[in-house]
Amino acid sequence: MGSIEGEGGERMFYCTNCGEAQDDGMTFCRFCGEKQPGLQLINRLRSEARRLRQSGEESTTAATNIQQETMSTLARLEKMRQEVDEAAQHRSGR
Ligand SMILES: [Zn+2]
Repeated sequence: MGSIEGEGGERMFYCTNCGEAQDDGMTFCRFCGEKQPGLQLINRLRSEARRLRQSGEESTTAATNIQQETMSTLARLEKMRQEVDEAAQHRSGR
């Protein structure tokens, strides 16, 4: 439960606003108060995308739209997370 595929099982994530490291499952950044997408949302989007993909054979147009929206949201969140992650690594001098 709660494991994320890929990324070597990394569990930390970083504020999408200030880049400070956040605790697992934080909803708001404790440094700047920015609302975080959070691992729970990412996990939820992932499982939703997976479910939609599995039932995709008989998908209606509406379901396809939802799927595309979910996938693009997930992709956007992950891209944001990676960018912040890289920025945080630079900040910590690595
Ligand atoms: Zn922040």
